[in-house]
Amino acid sequence: MPTAATSKLVSDRINRIELSATLAVVNEASALKAKGIDLVDFGAGEPHFSTPRHIKDAAIDALHKDCTKYTNVAGILELREGIVKRHAADLGSDYAANECMASTGGKLALFNAIQALVDHGDEVIIPVPYWVSFKDIVQYAGGTPVYVETDEEQGFRLTADMIARAITPRTRAIILNTPNNPSGAVMSTDDLRAVIKLAHARGVYVIADECYVYLNYAGTPVSAASFPECKEHVVVIGSLSKTYAMTGWRMGYALAPQPLITAMTKLQSQSTSSSNHFVQKAAVAAVTGPQACVEAMRAEYITLRDRMVAGLCQIPGLKCQVPYGAFYVYPNVTAYFGKGGITGAADIAKRLLHEAHVVAVPGPGFGTQDHIRLSYAVSEHDLERGLERMTKWFAAL
Ligand code: GLU
Repeated sequence: MPTAATSKLVSDRINRIELSATLAVVNEASALKAKGIDLVDFGAGEPHFSTPRHIKDAAIDALHKDCTKYTNVAGILELREGIVKRHAADLGSDYAANECMASTGGKLALFNAIQALVDHGDEVIIPVPYWVSFKDIVQYAGGTPVYVETDEEQGFRLTADMIARAITPRTRAIILNTPNNPSGAVMSTDDLRAVIKLAHARGVYVIADECYVYLNYAGTPVSAASFPECKEHVVVIGSLSKTYAMTGWRMGYALAPQPLITAMTKLQSQSTSSSNHFVQKAAVAAVTGPQACVEAMRAEYITLRDRMVAGLCQIPGLKCQVPYGAFYVYPNVTAYFGKGGITGAADIAKRLLHEAHVVAVPGPGFGTQDHIRLSYAVSEHDLERGLERMTKWFAAL
């Protein structure tokens, strides 16, 4: 019989991962809010907008029509057809409904894709800074993250050369995330095309997390699926969370070659089954309904970004690259290391929370030591309050 000392509580697989750094911040902020503390929340990235009315109405209508049952694991046909048509119209892709799978959030679609592709010992290229969950999901699958550094002075922009240098015979996949969370960097179309072509030629998969594809302030949105000649090695991960302000609905999708969708569907059939039926109906309304809401939100994010960057630049010592997409800024805070007992970026985020009541996510979760991430998907009122609190707090260090 194993004794308490020799028995282990959890699997090695679980020990390979950490609690999501963004969701850890959500947990801590919620606990303080529950105590009545008035926080300005630049933490987890989620739109401050309400979900558009026509999408909510579709969900309510679906509930009344008893869309409360199991569905096809990959999602109802109406939704998969709606997603591929919307994607083709906006981003020039070319997928059939059986090359699409809906999941309970883009994160699950990504999880399914990585589990379906990555074996023990496979290398997966992850550009830095990266969204917090990429490395953990790869490690959970037994893969080895291979980090590719970007240059802060160049706005953290990823180039095809950086990726080319990291490819080895063990490379199984490359994770791209443009616009990038946390830096807001956007890959140029030429670099994106070059990476997709290179990966295709080498038989390596590109897993493109495109949660922010519509929040591109640098130009016309471009997808990894905009180059259909390479689609055999492209997996697009999409989400309705940011595009339609639907984070809590948990609705995402994957577009991929049909055999891979079949494998991912098999995995999903053993975990969550389909996503919620009535949420799928709401998602149909989102992707097939009026799209003016998407542009209206995008326009407001640009205003918020400009104000946030200008405000941060007024704080002496903070170095802030202009983000060209998503809704985050990623200032370098090293000027304050050592001041007022500050030990690093994680310490700054912690003390901002407890002393200034401003929520930020520490950079180490995204793979860099010198930064904090601030989401500007907040009301103008909160943005001003948060900037004021930060300005005072940094000045007092
Ligand atoms: N993607 C958002 C963020 O980075 C949501 C939280 C998460 O799932 O990580 O804050």
